[in-house]
Amino acid sequence: MRLVDTHCHLDFPDYKDDLGEVLERAASAGVVRFVVPGTDIAGSERAVALAKQHRPVFAAVGIHPHEADRVDKAGISRLRDIALKSDKVVAIGEIGLDYYRGYSKPENQKRLFRDCLRVADEFDLPVILHNRDAGEDFLSILKELMPPASRGVVHCFSADAALVGELLSLGMHVSFAGNITFEKAARLRDLIKHVPPERLLLETDSPFIAPVPFRGKRNEPAYIGRLLDVHAGIYGLTAEDIARITTHNANQLFRLGIEEKPAVAYPIRDSLYLNITNRCTNRCTFCTRQYSNYVKGHALKLDAEPTTEEVMEAMGEISGYAEVVFCGYGEPTLRLEVIKRVASFVKEKGGRVRLVTNGEGSLISGRDITAEFKGIIDRVSVSLNAPDEAGYARISRPVFGERAYKAILDFIAGCKARGIEVEVTCLDMLGEEGVAGCRRIAEELGVGFRLRRMDIVG
Ligand code: SF4
Repeated sequence: MRLVDTHCHLDFPDYKDDLGEVLERAASAGVVRFVVPGTDIAGSERAVALAKQHRPVFAAVGIHPHEADRVDKAGISRLRDIALKSDKVVAIGEIGLDYYRGYSKPENQKRLFRDCLRVADEFDLPVILHNRDAGEDFLSILKELMPPASRGVVHCFSADAALVGELLSLGMHVSFAGNITFEKAARLRDLIKHVPPERLLLETDSPFIAPVPFRGKRNEPAYIGRLLDVHAGIYGLTAEDIARITTHNANQLFRLGIEEKPAVAYPIRDSLYLNITNRCTNRCTFCTRQYSNYVKGHALKLDAEPTTEEVMEAMGEISGYAEVVFCGYGEPTLRLEVIKRVASFVKEKGGRVRLVTNGEGSLISGRDITAEFKGIIDRVSVSLNAPDEAGYARISRPVFGERAYKAILDFIAGCKARGIEVEVTCLDMLGEEGVAGCRRIAEELGVGFRLRRMDIVG
């Protein structure tokens, strides 16, 4: 398991006597990268120095809103100099507004926040943001100054769902600290539901807010694993899924140099997915491949299509999985022989096999292939995408043109006739009428139906 602590103040005096041991304990707990944010000029310099000394440590440079009354133009210029000093400066932060403590005047906080956002823009760096009780001003300054392709994270989030929605629409990530483990933090845990895992980061905010059972003690990055189960429970994913997804998110946001190799076999929850091709006979308007090479933190853009032997090797031991799934980062039936050989192997081992497909396999192979699945495929999920031929052609843009839709319906009927459990899926973006039409078709064909949310992949 690889984890990233995206917010830990390792430059604070709390670690002056045992930083080496703190880093070692974190490495043993799986933490592979640390982002240390500066909270003032001296702290930013310390963060850069730490990043120079320790390979897994990266720095953010920033000035906390508490300092706003004491910062002038020279301070901002000094911040620029520090940001220029090292290629391990990966963000501008911690910056923002804090009206809760009120250590600096709101007007000065807003001025400082604007100045720091301009520095982030100049350096094309993401931002690490702090907001406490300043939601309206905070959002209005972000809207005023964040460039369209803005990047950043609001750390230790504790505001409300409305602000989460606004931040997500601005392209921001969100992270929660150790207080999500506190018994009375139901409101905070409820907020997590509003953040898709693809926009979530992990942080400890060390030395503050140690999670249960360390509450009240000095926090440290090794405790970050305590947050995994809370997130996993909320999203219906595993702790490993949360670790992988958040590490990928942090790596993309801060460019932390963590190697992410394309996966041929990849676990999500208790299923093992197989990525056997990136080719497809459709060009669906909503296809995730157009904007991302990743699903739930797995890199899925293949360098080359794997052979059957390579697929089997990548699968490893399969007895712990509820099912093996040929999945759709590409159309699996383009590689029918690989499916048949691997599926037979899984069945021999007593496993269950599911095929996720666009249903065009018989057109691809030029014959009815459903008979070939008998006994080796337990379940088929077919993405119907539209309730009629014209809608399908418009949304999925199949290379087979108008022939595709009828062939898909025949494929569904064929699988059902071979005793395979079939489920038709469609996306909520179709609207009420479109969804009702797809559901009706599933009923007429006597197969299952599942509505999928547009923004959830994997
Ligand atoms: S069928 Fe699946 S993989 Fe192919 S374009 Fe559509 S969404 Fe993408």
